[in-house]
Amino acid sequence: MTTVNLMSLNKTYPNSTAPVLKDFSLSINDGEMIALLGPSGSGKSTLLKLITGIERPDSGDIQFDGSSILNIDPNKRGAVLMFQKSYLFPFLNVEDNIGFGLKVQGVSSQTIRAEVKRMLNLIGLPGIEKRKSGQLSGGEGQRVALARALVTNPKLLLLDEPLSSLDTEVRMNLQEAIRNIQRELGVTTIFVSHDLGEAMAMSDRMALLLNGEIVALDKPENLFHRPRSVAAAKFMGVSTFLNGNQLTVKNEALSVPKVSSDQARLLSEPSGRYTKLFAIRPEHIRVQKDGCENSMQGVVSDCVFRGEYVEYQIAVNEMTVRARMPMPAPMFPHGERVFVKFPREHLFEVI
Ligand code: ADP
Ligand code: MG
Repeated sequence: MTTVNLMSLNKTYPNSTAPVLKDFSLSINDGEMIALLGPSGSGKSTLLKLITGIERPDSGDIQFDGSSILNIDPNKRGAVLMFQKSYLFPFLNVEDNIGFGLKVQGVSSQTIRAEVKRMLNLIGLPGIEKRKSGQLSGGEGQRVALARALVTNPKLLLLDEPLSSLDTEVRMNLQEAIRNIQRELGVTTIFVSHDLGEAMAMSDRMALLLNGEIVALDKPENLFHRPRSVAAAKFMGVSTFLNGNQLTVKNEALSVPKVSSDQARLLSEPSGRYTKLFAIRPEHIRVQKDGCENSMQGVVSDCVFRGEYVEYQIAVNEMTVRARMPMPAPMFPHGERVFVKFPREHLFEVI
């Protein structure tokens, strides 16, 4: 049972001028699963290396239950790391792979056998003790790697994109398995991913890391529906922004007299400061034949049938509006004149 405090961490690698982590702070509750979401190169793995002790921060502190762990040996910190590849010892069988950490600790072979059995039940692979790790599928290998990580009863479980190399079905199964096991054991966990859907599915709270800084931290559903900043909104799949002084918020309810080209300007790449900037998710934009309140006229530049929804690109005032309408939805041909509607209840303010 561990509360983790990451406090003002800074890290610049030697021979580099650009900091990888800048004043990074995050508190993780006991038993919580935090997803750390960020594009490749944003510093996710570096953070995990600081926690496990593979790297040292230039400044800042890392505390488990209120005590700094920076001066504790990496193998004594109680933080275990699981990677994209399982790195099982190929010459050892499953039992010896999982039991390795306990053996190093001098635990009796009888206890190890019992613990390995318990772990194999937990990961849903009972009875495979004697299999060579080379005979495991990708998904089985990751389950065994998870068992190996958990068998020592760690204070903190760190998962560094553990499912990235698996195909969709295996990946979905393992997402569910990891979530259930994490809840059952109540182990405090950081799950690193660059995949939005996976990070949302796997977390109590989600932290968005861009260029070494946390730009958003909230429950997945809040971050998805109401990202507060342009950067966070873009990472959440929002590409349509509206700037206009006539768009106002009163008593937290949005009052949009009328979104039209003379009252609001469409932006896809907002830059600088705006007095009022609103965003809307692509699945909330309507594409329709006729104009109405809160709509702008445009021309269809693309319309793709995706099965569960139709994806449109509509050219409006030299801007491209991307919309997704759930089926059944009208299919408009390229070049057709249409209206895009921005329902006021779905517009939200960003900074
Ligand atoms: P992520 O896991 O989010 O993809 P990393 O933490 O691996 O990001 O890397 C962040 C940045 O730090 C990248 O620009 C990467 O090239 C750089 N970096 C990572 N490890 C080292 C290292 N050992 N020495 C120098 N630069 C590194
Ligand atoms: Mg990484």
